[in-house]
Amino acid sequence: MTARLLVIGSANVDLFAHVARHPTPGETILGQGGERAGGGKGANQALAAALQGAPVTFVGAVGQDGDADVALGALRTAGVDLSRVAAVADAPTGLAIITVSADGENTIVVISGANATVTPEQAEAAVAASGPDDVVLLQGELPRTTTEAAVRAAVAAGRRVVLNVAPWNALDRDVLTSADPLVLNEHEAAQAVEELGLEASGDGGTALAEALVTAGTPSVVVTLGAEGAAVVDASGTDTVPSRRVTAVDTTGAGDAFTGALAARLIAGDPLRAAVEHAVRVGAYAVQHHGAQPSYPGLEQELP
Ligand code: ADP
Repeated sequence: MTARLLVIGSANVDLFAHVARHPTPGETILGQGGERAGGGKGANQALAAALQGAPVTFVGAVGQDGDADVALGALRTAGVDLSRVAAVADAPTGLAIITVSADGENTIVVISGANATVTPEQAEAAVAASGPDDVVLLQGELPRTTTEAAVRAAVAAGRRVVLNVAPWNALDRDVLTSADPLVLNEHEAAQAVEELGLEASGDGGTALAEALVTAGTPSVVVTLGAEGAAVVDASGTDTVPSRRVTAVDTTGAGDAFTGALAARLIAGDPLRAAVEHAVRVGAYAVQHHGAQPSYPGLEQELP
C-alpha cells in the first residue's frame, strides 16, 4: 500500500483587505480591494504536500456554509482526500480576517469556528484507519487536547509524527519529544526550549534545535527564514542554506516548507534531503503572493 500523509489540522477562509494604512480603533476607512482564499495551517500544509506529489488525507472540520467550499476548494482540486472532514452544524467555517497595509504590515484576527470542534475521537479514528507507513502531520491550530491525543495515538500505532507547533502551544513534554521531526521557526523553538526547561548554548536556531534534541526529540528542524533551516538529529547538526531570492510575500512560507518536507519523507527521502527540498519550496513560495496560491507544483522550477 502506498504511504499517505495524514494531515490533522485547521482549515479557514482567509479574507484579505488591502488598505493604504491600518484604521485606528473607532475609525472607518476605505480599502483598496480584497479577496478570499483557502487558508489555515493544516489546509495550507496539506495542499503544499499534495502539490509536491504526496497522497494526502486531510482531517478537520468546516461549517455547513458557503465558506466551506472556499476553505477546501484548492485541496479538492489537488486531489486531497476530504472524506474525514466533518461538516458541523453548530459552528461556522474558520475565518481569518487579514488586513494588509501598503508597507506590507499585517493584522490578523482568527475566528476558529469549526476548527475548535475537531475532537480527539475524530483524530484518533483517522489515525486508527491509517496504514503502517503513513506519516501524521499536525500543527498548533486545533484544540490542544485534540493535538495531544492525535500524537499519542499515532505514536502508539507506530506512525511517524511530524509536528509543527505553529502557533506556539505549550503541549505536554511527551508529545513535543515524540515528533520526528519537530518543525519550528526560531521564535517557536525559543519557546519550546523555555517550556521544556532546557539550556541552549546560544539563541540561534541551531543551538535551540540542539537543545531540543537533548530533551529526547529524535529530530528537530528549525526554519531560519532567508537563511534556510537547521537540522539536528542523532547523526549531528547541519544547516541547509537557501538560495538568495527576492521575497515579495512570506505569508504561508513556513507551511509550504513543512508540507513539502512531509511530502518528501513520505516518498522515502532521508531527513536532510527532505529539508533541502523544503527550503527550495519555501524560497519559491516567498517569491509569489498569498499563501496557498504561492505553492509550487511538480512542474514548477524551484530556486
Ligand atoms: P515562518 O514563516 O513560519 O516564521 P520562516 O520565516 O523561518 O518561518 O520561513 C520558513 C521557510 O520559508 C524558510 O525555511 C525558507 O525555506 C523560506 N523562506 C522564508 N523567508 C525567506 C526568504 N526571505 N528567502 C528565501 N526563503 C525564505
